[in-house]
Amino acid sequence: MTTTELPDLTGFTEHNGIRMTAIGDDGETLLALGHHDPVKTVHAFHWLLRHRLGDNGLPERGTPREVAEDVHALWAVTLTECGDCGGRSDCLDCAAIKSSDWWIDYSASEQDLGRFPVMVLHLDD
Ligand SMILES: [Zn+2]
Repeated sequence: MTTTELPDLTGFTEHNGIRMTAIGDDGETLLALGHHDPVKTVHAFHWLLRHRLGDNGLPERGTPREVAEDVHALWAVTLTECGDCGGRSDCLDCAAIKSSDWWIDYSASEQDLGRFPVMVLHLDD
């Protein structure tokens, strides 16, 4: 764990002390706020899938310890614009970001201003 402050974002579900949600166009990426034990994170993601997202969960992907190898501890920042277009008013990426309650870029570095720790699992890998 770190002392980095986590953002207060809407739409997250908490289970066993892990705040998490599904992101991506089809909810294909699971993201938890904070750095946690990977196996504990897998158990939380499995709960999220079964009890909040109507999915069968993670067993078909392997044991919790096997799935944990695909869970990545990363750094994220919240974005208010895409950062690539120079603020063009017709940028579709910026429009998507502005129409959302929040937007997370989880490819930040540990040195980035405003970064916070996340755990990420891509279900479509
Ligand atoms: Zn843009």
